[in-house]
Amino acid sequence: MILKKLVVGPFASNCYIIGSESNKEGMIIDPGAEAEVILGNVKDLGLDIKSILLTHGHIDHIGALKEVKEATGAEVAIHTDEAKSLQEQPLSTLLGISYPTPLPPDRLLKDGDSIDISDLHFLVLHTPGHGPGGICLLGQGAVFSGDTLFNYGIGRTDLPGGNYSQLMNSIHTKLMVLPDNTAVYPGHGPDTTIGTERRGNPFLQT
Ligand SMILES: [Zn+2]
Ligand SMILES: [Zn+2]
Repeated sequence: MILKKLVVGPFASNCYIIGSESNKEGMIIDPGAEAEVILGNVKDLGLDIKSILLTHGHIDHIGALKEVKEATGAEVAIHTDEAKSLQEQPLSTLLGISYPTPLPPDRLLKDGDSIDISDLHFLVLHTPGHGPGGICLLGQGAVFSGDTLFNYGIGRTDLPGGNYSQLMNSIHTKLMVLPDNTAVYPGHGPDTTIGTERRGNPFLQT
């Protein structure tokens, strides 16, 4: 699997570009900002982007969506419970960030859906709590955890739609059941593993 991590925008959001080694089909997870940087990397990697996957609809994960969608023509996928956030973005008004409203999503996701990019196969895990339609994407020995789980941290639950007990339930029932050696690629900050978080994440110690 080709994997490129970019840190973009004022909130230092992680955007991941994923691709198949065999035929160069690819996917972008969370085009949060800096469309030109994302698209430049896609070009350097020689990828044909088939899908743009949004872990959730917060402005810091979708800020470059419109431009990246227009440039790649890729299908935009987001969980059903998060889709309206593409049209209404109260956080952008709140934070004073201008936000070009994208087209409606092409594909609405639910728990258990699969996303296939050539020979790469991913499973959608619905992990509400940071937001109602937050998802993690599991596949190729890795989980892309959005703002659900961070290295030694968890997503905030004080934003509209957030719910702490729901978030903890999502982490325990969907993520902590994964093998220790599963790589974790979060929406912000450094990579980690499920085992590292199981042992050391202060929010997961009982
Ligand atoms: Zn968020
Ligand atoms: Zn975020």
